Amino acid sequence: MGKKNKKVVVLPCSGIGKVYGAVARETAYELVEKVRPGVATLTCLPLLVINDPEAVALVTENPVITIDGCPKECARKSVEAVGGKVAKVHEAIKFYKEHKDLKPEGVAEVNETGRKLAAIAARELAPEVDELAAGEEM
Ligand code: SF4
Repeated sequence: MGKKNKKVVVLPCSGIGKVYGAVARETAYELVEKVRPGVATLTCLPLLVINDPEAVALVTENPVITIDGCPKECARKSVEAVGGKVAKVHEAIKFYKEHKDLKPEGVAEVNETGRKLAAIAARELAPEVDELAAGEEM
């Protein structure tokens, strides 16, 4: 058992112009706003890129779940670049592969189907948030 954590950082990539980047963002919003409010929290990926002290402290002092939009893994790499250790790594396309009836579309924002997929993905990630918030090693 590790020490008890207050927050779990859910970090989607920026994903501009890519549907799975939009799915990653939407999934993170679902987790933070609806599924695990008060436990899951977000930061802005570019803040890590510019070494913002508050953002760096957030991802180095709390467990982090990354959700990336493609294999370039910008979210994971950005956390690691500032010395953070990512507890769980996800690529948004895997949620579609597991739910082929929900094909997301849209790049700035996902369509209704994409929002449904993100809501399901957020529920599936909730147990990871709970375990990390409880300080359990994964
Ligand atoms: S992981 Fe892929 S989709 Fe996300 S910001 Fe990087 S290049 Fe863009």
